[in-house]
This record gives sequence, structure tokens and C-alpha cells, in this order.
Amino acid sequence: MSNVTVEQLADVVGAPVERLLEQLKEAGIKADDATTLISDEDKLKLLDFLRSSHGKNEASKSEGKQQITLKRKSVSELKLGGAGRSKTVNVEVRKKRTYVKRSEAASSEKDELDRLMAEKAERDEGRKQAEEDARRKAEEAVVAKAEAEAKAKAEAEAAAKEKAEAEAKAEAEKAALLTTEEASKASKAKEGHKKSKKSHDDKDKAETRYGRKELHVASGKSGQRKKKPRKRSGATAESTGKHGFEMPVVPIVHDIGVPETIKVSELAQKMSMKSAEVIKLMMKMGVMATINQVIDQDTAILVIEECGHKAHPVSDDDRENTLLELAKQELGELVARPPVVTIMGHVDHGKTSLLDYIRASKVASGEAGGITQHIGAYHVETDKGVITFLDTPGHAAFTSMRARGAQSTDIVILVVAADDGVMPQTVEAIQHSKAAGVPIIVAVNKIDKEDADPDRVKTALGNHEVIPEEWGGENIFINVSAKTGEGIDDLLDAISLQAEVMELQASATGPAKGLVVEASLDKGRGVMTTILVQQGQLNKGDILLAGQEYGRVRAMFDENGNQISEAGPSIPVLVLGLPSTPSAGDPIQVLADERTARELAMSRSEKDRNARLATQQQAKLESMFANMGKAEVNILNILLKADVQGSLEAIREALVKLAADNDEVDVNIIGSGVGGITETDITLAAASNAIVLGFNVRADAAARKAVSERGVDLHYYSVIYDLIDEVKRALTGMLAPEYKEQIIGLAEVKDAFKSPKFGLVAGSIVTEGVVKRNQPIRVLRENVVIYEGELESLRRFKDDVDEVRSGTECGIAVKNYNDVKPGDQIEVFERVQVERTL
Ligand code: GDP
Ligand code: MG
Repeated sequence: MSNVTVEQLADVVGAPVERLLEQLKEAGIKADDATTLISDEDKLKLLDFLRSSHGKNEASKSEGKQQITLKRKSVSELKLGGAGRSKTVNVEVRKKRTYVKRSEAASSEKDELDRLMAEKAERDEGRKQAEEDARRKAEEAVVAKAEAEAKAKAEAEAAAKEKAEAEAKAEAEKAALLTTEEASKASKAKEGHKKSKKSHDDKDKAETRYGRKELHVASGKSGQRKKKPRKRSGATAESTGKHGFEMPVVPIVHDIGVPETIKVSELAQKMSMKSAEVIKLMMKMGVMATINQVIDQDTAILVIEECGHKAHPVSDDDRENTLLELAKQELGELVARPPVVTIMGHVDHGKTSLLDYIRASKVASGEAGGITQHIGAYHVETDKGVITFLDTPGHAAFTSMRARGAQSTDIVILVVAADDGVMPQTVEAIQHSKAAGVPIIVAVNKIDKEDADPDRVKTALGNHEVIPEEWGGENIFINVSAKTGEGIDDLLDAISLQAEVMELQASATGPAKGLVVEASLDKGRGVMTTILVQQGQLNKGDILLAGQEYGRVRAMFDENGNQISEAGPSIPVLVLGLPSTPSAGDPIQVLADERTARELAMSRSEKDRNARLATQQQAKLESMFANMGKAEVNILNILLKADVQGSLEAIREALVKLAADNDEVDVNIIGSGVGGITETDITLAAASNAIVLGFNVRADAAARKAVSERGVDLHYYSVIYDLIDEVKRALTGMLAPEYKEQIIGLAEVKDAFKSPKFGLVAGSIVTEGVVKRNQPIRVLRENVVIYEGELESLRRFKDDVDEVRSGTECGIAVKNYNDVKPGDQIEVFERVQVERTL
């Protein structure tokens, strides 16, 4: 443990800063204020001081307080370092443990800590001769007295009490309360082994006779024994009828299962110890920790073993698997199931148009159902069979599900605009699909356009190992137009054909398993979760576990808003009944009883929380160490935030690979997470000299302020390829000036209302910069990008305007997007030429 400030020390020992400062002053240590650094030496000095002053206090107090002190022996080594030579002597020493009546113990937490500190100092250092003598006499008196008492008392339990009392008396008389094994060590070493041995033998006898089991003063244990929890029983006091002492019984050795990460307070609880004691113990082991800190499994096991308990590692997955194993239910026979399809491709190549066309032309529109809500997935019935489409936007959803180990998709439709060809996100989509091992069907779109060149698309895709069947490859290419509907039926046929080859199967009965496709909160109906059933059958009334949430299925709806009571494999449903929103990609399953569901939900959220805390702390520590002495190594520190777990993992992987391919420089991801960029992120980045990369996320107001105050380098991206490319260029020093996005304005949505002419209009106020009518925009919800597109109209009162400046209200209609809600933000950006710096 290195230097700490007065404040930190005060926190650790649990004393007010003022008091500690006072004590420091009394001990002759210079400490001006709470931020003064205290060295180890100073700490020892303070402990020494506390010990001596405390010893006095305790001695005068002990007469009034009912207090017993127990000793036990142990073997240890003593180094005598006199006049240039040193020798090591093995000595057997006795340790002391003072018991105070419970009421007092409870009321004097601070005293206890002082005492613990004092004891530490005492173990570390020798003792004064006078005290040694006093102590030795006290011991002898105790032994003698105890022996006498032993004859009188047959019952070991009672004897223990007597011994304790004897000690308390003796101690009071001798005014030598807080002594240690070191003290006797030193004195005995001086007096020679003979004497020491003799005294020890006496003691041993006494202990045996006094039933040391009850007092658990068994020999051969280390000094850490005093850390053990002891049960104090009030009943024993009554049985002797004489004293108000509470009887310590055999220490309970807990066999503690240690999860992958654990909070210090939880660890303490598992060992039945006070958190403060655990913290002190960890300090001694050289680990600074606070009560709420999460420590890793290895550290926790060391601490537990140090306390004399047994520890066995328990992986979080083990726990979950055991629960799942117990909850396992029979699934039905396997039958063929419909394919689940995801449409991917570069922006503006027609993904949404294609989905909309298929939905509009193929989904049998039911009667006005109970719910009108876009549920993020739908299924169509063709004469070749049922096909389910996931229409969550883009690759992120796809990969976020895959990152959780769930395969959401059987077939990917890669949309490539015939007039635009292969673009960065096209390549990204191929990579995602190939990584997931999902077959790709290429929809060459916009075939109706004059400048459509489907052959160019074929050639270009060939470079990325997506090769048409007619050229000997295994990818089906279909020319389509989402505008005219040309080729759409061929596309659906191709999907059914591909599915047939894949022989997709699932059991149609038994408890449902599947995935969360998306989830949202509706003011009236509560949490609405779109679920894709993958196995079994989901029924109304089932107990549903979705990620960390569980609840009963209150109602289910199909994509037309019609109430349904069951859903089989590959069928998407909207479910009401979960208490709060799970994440997209979370696994769902139906369980037989609510208790198991609750336990699994709890175990998952605990695991999640701990893992988060652990990475946060790790990031801080690692960067601290990284910055120490490593300055000359070329490291690019990165703090990464993304909209979903999937993109985060993908970017992480790519960055790690990038660093592995490059010898001179290293990429160090000091922190990463899902969601908007916060002030804490910026602080961490500033502290670690890191750049901040946001993928489809934005910094909030406080974070932006911190960015300008601390001069942190912040970059936004919406294409993974761009991000990686830019980092790569930065690493290789090839930052050429290039076109780049710059945010020019930000508006906050105050209200959303329907206008017959423009659809949904967002009554907004421009909070930063300028909102321009003809620039591309993004819609942000909680600092995460949820839509990218352009404006349909920009109005001030009744007038169309070209731009609106900061502080001004306006009405904004986003083209093709009707989901803007109050609280959302609309950011306007432009592409400008900038000097590239990272
Ligand atoms: P996404 O970004 O991939 O979802 O692309 P969109 O579906 O939003 O389409 C982008 C633009 O291309 C829109 O203006 C569409 O109207 C247009 N578009 C999409 N498909 C076709 C098509 O087959 N033919 C033509 N001419 N235009 C299309
Ligand atoms: Mg779209």
C-alpha cells in the first residue's frame, strides 16, 4: 500500500477527518488538511501513538467495563537485528484477544478500530521493556489464578468465564492491556528459551484444562485468527449467573462460494464480519478497497482464506446453469419451421422500402386490432411457405443478438442498390453475416432505375466472396425493385428455397424459448416486448423470463395488432406483462414457476452489475498503471461508447485486431460501454489521456461541457468501417484531410403532433447551433441514434424556413419517420472537409 491522503485514511479507518487530523497533530505528523499525503512511515507513527494513548485509556476504562482478555499461543519467527548482525529465533508466543461486553462493543466501533490499528502496529514493532515486564507478570498471574479456578470448576464452559474474569482483573491491576505476542516475544527472547518454554508449558496445561475448545484458543493458528467471527451467546451468561459476559463459541468455518466478482460488503456478510474489518484486513494485504468496491474472484478468495474460511470459486454461469438445469422441461418433437430473415445493406439502398413493400403487399391486413404498434418483425405467408422478417434497423440489432450468443437470423437478404453498388456498409453486412455463418441472398435493388447496373454489383460482390450461383458460387442473386415490386415474388421464392435446403427445425410444443427483438415502454400499456419464438409455444399466462426481467404474459398480439393466445416457432409476437424493458437480443424462456424465474433474473442482474463495476474499476486502475512509466511507448488510449452491445463487441474486436497487426503502436481500450457519453466517461478519458469514440451515441450536455473544459478528443461515427479506418490511419500517421461529418445544430423535441400535410410534426426548440432545412439529420433518444434521414419540413409559425437558430422554437417534420417523441433530440449535421487529427 502506498501513500494515501488523510481523507482516504479517515475513510478506511472510519474516523472523521477532523479527528484524524487532530490525532496526526498529536502524534507529531505534519498534516495540514484532508489532502495531505500520509506515508507508510507516518501511518506507523500514528498507529504507535494511538496505541500508546489508547492503551492508557483502555486501562483506565477497563475497570468499569466488563472485559475479558484471552490468550493463545502460536509459533512465529523473530528477527533480532542488533549491531550489524541479525539472527532468527523461533519463539512460541501467546496472543491476546480482548472481549468486551456486547453493548459496549457495539457502542465503541471506533475504539475497536483503534485497537485493531494498535494491534497491527504492535505486531509490526517491539515493545517497551516496562510493558513487557508488566505483561509477563500479568500472564503469570493469570495462569496461576486460572489454575486455581480450574480446580474449583468442573465445567469447561464456566471455567472459561472464570479465566476470562481472572484475566480482566489481572489486566486492570497491571495496567497493561494492549499487549502483543511481539512483546512477549522480545522479552522471552531476551530471557532465553528455557524460561519461555516453561512458561509456555504452564500455559498449555492451563488452556487444556480450561477447555480451550470453547474458547477456541487452540494452538498452531496464525494471528489472523482474531479476525474470525465469533458467535456470542447470551444464554451462557445466564448459565453462570455471575457475569454479564457473552460466551464466544467455536468459530464457524464457512465454506464460501465466491462469484466471479463480489462487493466488499457482500464478502464481509458471507464471512459474518464487519465490512470495516474486511477493509482493514485488505489494507494489510496491500489492497485498498472501499465498502462498495467490487473485487475479483482471486482477491476475494485470498481474503477469505486469510480469515480462516474455506473458499471455492463459483462461476456465474455455473449458478445460472444449475438453475436452468433444475428448470428444464420437456420439449416436443422437432418439426419444420419457417425461416427468419434479416435485411441488411448500405444506407439508402432500400432496406426499409423493401420491407415495407413486402409487408404492404403480403401481410394479410387484419381487422383493426387491439393495438396499433410497429412491432419490429412480421411474417408473410406465400404459397411456398411462411417467412418471418425482422425489420429492426441494420446490422447493429443483428450483431447485438449474436454477441449474446443468440442466432436471431437464418438468412440475410443483402440489399445493394444497382445504381450505387457495393458500399462500406455493404461490406460490413457481408462480414457480419459471414461471421455468423448465415447464408446471404443478394437483392439487387432499384432495378427500375435507368442507371441500374446489376452486373457491376455482381462483380463487386465477387471481390468479397459473395458469388452468384451461375458463376459457380453459392449465393442467390435476385434483381428487384422495391418501388415497382418487380422481382419481389422471386425473392420470396428464393428465400423459401434456401430455407428448404437448410432444413430448419424446431419443436412446436413445450415451453417457449426465443429472443427479445425489441422492447419499449408505452404510457398506457406498460412494457411492450416483441419476442421471436424460436422453440416451443408461447402462451398467454406463461411465466416469462426475458434477460433480467420476468413476469406473466398478460396479453399477446400479432403484427396486425390482433390478440392471440399462442405463438409457435419463428413467429414474432408483441407481449405485455414484463415489469420493465429487457434489451434487444436478450434470451427469453418460459419457466414452470415464478420462483425460479425470480432467482434467474436476480442472478443475471447481479452478474451484470458486478461485471460493469469491475470493468469500470479495472479501467481506472489499468490506465493508472499504463500511464506510469510507459509514456514513451506509443499507445492510443480509447474510451468507446456504442448504441448496442453488438456494435461495441464488433468495434472492440476490430480494434484489438488492428493493434495486433501493428507493432509500433498499441491500442488500449481503457473503457467501453453501451449508451450515451456521460461526464464520467469524459473524466475517465481525461484522466487516462484517452480519446473518446462514440458509435451512434452522443455526449450529453454535462459531458460536452467537460469535453471543452478538459480538452478531451471526442469523435462520433455511424459506420463501424469509418471508425476503424480512422483509428488505423491515426495509428499509421496517415491522417489525410477528408470529408467528415460535423454537427451544426441540435433541437430538442418538446411536443409531437399530427399535421395532415406533413405527418408527425415535432414542436421543438433549437438548443445549439443552427437547424437547417436541407442538411441530413439524426433523431436521438437518450443520446443514442435511433433514426437517420432528412427533414420533410422546417417551419416557424406558419412559414417554411430554411434555418432556425439557437433559442428559437420551430416545427420539424422528419421525412418517412413518425416516431419522434417529446424529449428526443434532432441533430443536424453536414459533411465538411477537415484536417484529420485523432
Ligand atoms: P434504407 O436506408 O436502406 O432503408 O433505404 P430506404 O428504403 O429508406 O430507401 C432510400 C431511398 O431509395 C428512398 O427514397 C426510396 O424511395 C428509394 N428506393 C428504395 N428502393 C427503390 C427502388 O427499388 N427503386 C427506386 N427508384 N427507388 C427506391
Ligand atoms: Mg431505412
